[in-house]
Amino acid sequence: MAKVYFSKIYNETTTDDIKKISKKLLDRVVTEENITLEKKIPLKVHFGEAGNITYVKPQNYDGLIDYLQDRDIEALFMETSVLYGGQRYKKELHLKTAEEHGFTRIPVIIADGDHGEEFTDIEVNLKYFDKCKIGREFSNYDQIMVVAHFKGHALGGFGGAIKQLAMGHASKGGKLAMHMGIKPQITNRKCTKCHLCQKACTEDAITIDEKKSFIDHEKCVGCGGCVAACPSKAVSIMAIGGIATALKGNDFREKLVEYAYAAQKGKRNIYINYVMNITAQCDCVGKKMKPIMDDIGIYASTNPVAIDMACWDIVKENGKKFKGVRQLDYAESIGLGTKNYKLIEI
Ligand code: SF4
Ligand code: SF4
Repeated sequence: MAKVYFSKIYNETTTDDIKKISKKLLDRVVTEENITLEKKIPLKVHFGEAGNITYVKPQNYDGLIDYLQDRDIEALFMETSVLYGGQRYKKELHLKTAEEHGFTRIPVIIADGDHGEEFTDIEVNLKYFDKCKIGREFSNYDQIMVVAHFKGHALGGFGGAIKQLAMGHASKGGKLAMHMGIKPQITNRKCTKCHLCQKACTEDAITIDEKKSFIDHEKCVGCGGCVAACPSKAVSIMAIGGIATALKGNDFREKLVEYAYAAQKGKRNIYINYVMNITAQCDCVGKKMKPIMDDIGIYASTNPVAIDMACWDIVKENGKKFKGVRQLDYAESIGLGTKNYKLIEI
């Protein structure tokens, strides 16, 4: 049985109190779980898409950062670029978003290169993947503080520690691999015929001619190289009849779990879930969304499955049953963690 530590928060809880609560919570989990902290620890965060207002705000990380800096531990924010659309699809714009959203207190590292092309292959030998493409920079650290905003997610059902490990750590090719057998397509009205995607494609799958640009899906292996290479956002999985329609089902969730397994393999991670500003959709949605319930609390654990199970349960207790809970069965079956948890209130 894994221990999950939590502190209640309310809609009225001030930023200053959240700072104190999160610091105390982290102290408790480090002490009780006998965690030896590294001298440099990345906080895996989500900066929120431009236009989103319900992501975990930078001030809410202050307690965690204070705790580390009090112990002369260097903290930094770590993220990977997204696969499609938005303002975070490449490093330059991603850093701009981070700055605009106030993530300026500690250095920001984009873990998968300028265009999401840098990764380390992590061997897993599981049902869907033999290897997973994890943002290269993560391999430089033995310990990551994986901080997630627990809320709904269109494809995963919910997003917490596992989603933050999986989609949050994967390079663009890894993200594409999780999005099932889906292959990218080119939106011709956006294509400037610059041929950069063609140069990036190792499978000779892309044709650019006077009439149109297209990808031969018989040749394409779904590596994501062309998505990363295209400066015009003309290569996209969004071109295929809507992402939610194309990607629904449990395969995606099991693939997510396998990537989470890869991301945490060999590491001594700490997981923090903020169960506040709980929206139906994720922070990648670049628009204002209203929370669907009151704020609940901050959770911490060394076990990514236990913490997500505890958060899923508490959200259900508060009247909202997120889909996708069966992904935790698969997570448990492959040894990512346990659904069996003991709650300890701080
Ligand atoms: S995903 Fe990879 S293999 Fe497929 S077209 Fe793009 S670069 Fe080529
Ligand atoms: S990289 Fe993008 S804009 Fe350039 S040819 Fe390929 S699809 Fe068109």
